[in-house]
Amino acid sequence: MNRTVQGFPEQAKTALKNEALQKAMGSTSGEFREKRAKAVQALPEFDELCEAATDIKKRVLDNLDYYLEQFETNVKRNGGQVHYARDGARAQEIVVALCQKHEATKVTKSKSMVTEEIELNHALEAVGIEVTETDLGEYIIQIAGETPSHIIGPALHMSEDEIAELFSDVHGTDKLEASDDRGAKLVREARGVLRDKFFASELCISGANFLVAETGSIAIVTNEGNADLCRLIPKHHIAVTGIEKIVPNLEDLGAMLRVLARSATGQAMTSYVTLVSGPNDLYQDPSFHVVLVDGKRSQALAEETREMLRCIRCGACMNHCPVYGAVGGHAYGWVYPGPIGAILSPSFLGLDSARHLPHASTLCGACGDVCPVRIPIPELLRHWREETYRQALTPVKERTIIRLWAWLAARPTIYGLVMRAGIHALKLLSKKGLIRRLPLVHEWTMHKDFPAPEGGKFTELWRKSEGHDNE
Ligand code: SF4
Repeated sequence: MNRTVQGFPEQAKTALKNEALQKAMGSTSGEFREKRAKAVQALPEFDELCEAATDIKKRVLDNLDYYLEQFETNVKRNGGQVHYARDGARAQEIVVALCQKHEATKVTKSKSMVTEEIELNHALEAVGIEVTETDLGEYIIQIAGETPSHIIGPALHMSEDEIAELFSDVHGTDKLEASDDRGAKLVREARGVLRDKFFASELCISGANFLVAETGSIAIVTNEGNADLCRLIPKHHIAVTGIEKIVPNLEDLGAMLRVLARSATGQAMTSYVTLVSGPNDLYQDPSFHVVLVDGKRSQALAEETREMLRCIRCGACMNHCPVYGAVGGHAYGWVYPGPIGAILSPSFLGLDSARHLPHASTLCGACGDVCPVRIPIPELLRHWREETYRQALTPVKERTIIRLWAWLAARPTIYGLVMRAGIHALKLLSKKGLIRRLPLVHEWTMHKDFPAPEGGKFTELWRKSEGHDNE
């Protein structure tokens, strides 16, 4: 299915009607929230750790050029090479050229959101390179021909039964019927298929959760150990990631890993943390390349939304978002869903195409509260909403209502009169305390009734309430 960021309203409606999706979402996002809450409770200094992680990321963004140069120097010293790509197309060219130079026709990949962002698999497959995703969730969506619906749980939208059916179709096996250990059997089946792919692999492509400037190392975190197999078996390794993933040194990496694991999966530490500091020394003439993708990040660095570049892709904001919880990740139409996706997509793809996304929020603030690197997500969403209005991207009706409201709000006496008349009119429109269809803004009553006002104006109620009689 071809989804787009422009298509959010329609995609969200479709998602709400999708019973299988609703069931899958209901059972998983609550689990993530509970695990995170327990992990945070078990670590009294969690808040201090988040402050430290935030300071590290701020320091890096303030001195990004310095740390990138330091990282590059140290990668070279370790025998590797750094390649800069201004956008996704250039990154694709670099990776394809490297694969061809190393005569690699079979490639294994460990999970990387940046390679999803730049659609690397399509570029590799277009030149005849066989690519196999080795993270279980990524493998599932790859063989299903899907895109990820969550940044740490790519196949979160699929039920166990759908996966059993998919494996049976693709692997040519009998479909496993529901049982207590069906999940474990499916994992074993995938492991068997992937093991052959690992041993046939001629080149590894990975992401990098962090880049350590002081040592020229990349850090990859997984819960399956697939990154280690991916990287250790073939002779060549290409890591693809964003320029903002730098941390200054190993001590800072430790702090980031502690908040990432707790925020993402509620673990004290991710099961596998792989530090790669150069080419695979099991071979003669191995190679290690790091492709650093800009993709509008340096532009964002100079804009009001630069704080979004602190994101460590833990997924906590989407796990706590009521909108994401209702519509799932695919409705957002691009690789980054949820609250952080609603900020990144307008920056990376342009506000005119992604203008609906910043409105896909109740602004309840839960995303900002749980973000381990203190990204003020609700403020950034509001920033994009203001920009949408300022750039005249909102529909004329909405703009007219906002202008009228602003004009009234600046004239308290007229505002009071209009409000009183409005309350009266709404009461007349109501039946049994509910309004079935609101005039002018009927979208609000398309899916639910609107409650009729019960009292008078808020300011009158406030004055009458205890202690405010004289205000
Ligand atoms: S914005 Fe914050 S909570 Fe959301 S994925 Fe990024 S780091 Fe995690």
